[in-house]
Amino acid sequence: MRHTRRLSPAERLFLPAIARGLAITLRAIFRPRFTRQYPEEPIPVTPVTRGQPRLVQFEDGSPACVSCGLCEYACPAYAITIDGGETDRFIEREPKRFEIDMLRCILCGFCEEACPKDAIFMSQELEMAAATREDHILGLDRLLRPRAEFAERMEYVRGIHERWKDPSALQRRAHERWTEQARRKEQEEAAGSAGGQT
Ligand code: SF4
Ligand code: SF4
Repeated sequence: MRHTRRLSPAERLFLPAIARGLAITLRAIFRPRFTRQYPEEPIPVTPVTRGQPRLVQFEDGSPACVSCGLCEYACPAYAITIDGGETDRFIEREPKRFEIDMLRCILCGFCEEACPKDAIFMSQELEMAAATREDHILGLDRLLRPRAEFAERMEYVRGIHERWKDPSALQRRAHERWTEQARRKEQEEAAGSAGGQT
């Protein structure tokens, strides 16, 4: 035997369901937003951001890379191709051709970790757009960036290495930073309350 319940006139007009839906919408209006108006609002970047890999360029315009091939060997995506050659500079070799296929790159950062010369770092460049596949293969002319651009990332990467040597070092540094922040906040609060009393 089928049991059926008669709907009230309000239910027939879907009024309770509409009211519940509006209540959910109203609650959501006051919640913090998780969406952003990209590209007008770009994604925030920090030294931790692992963007596309880029090569370090010295002030005289030469690459820091000595064409040792370690990054090429470490790259799990086979994205790096290097042809090294002799040079008259104080180093023995430098890359004549250094290419990264950004369609292969998985932004893992292994090249950065493998490099013994601080010559390749993960940049804060996140955007990739090109009309052809060939345009995604970046050569020396599109990979080199002034050394100063990597200052924060270099410090961060050295921190990681420090952690590997001494696992408690990073925690210590985090604790020091936290203590410093708390001290500054206390000072600001004290200054604020002193200003309020005058
Ligand atoms: S970030 Fe990873 S995948 Fe990309 S080039 Fe470096 S090692 Fe290869
Ligand atoms: S590991 Fe560093 S120095 Fe060696 S080829 Fe790669 S970028 Fe150049």
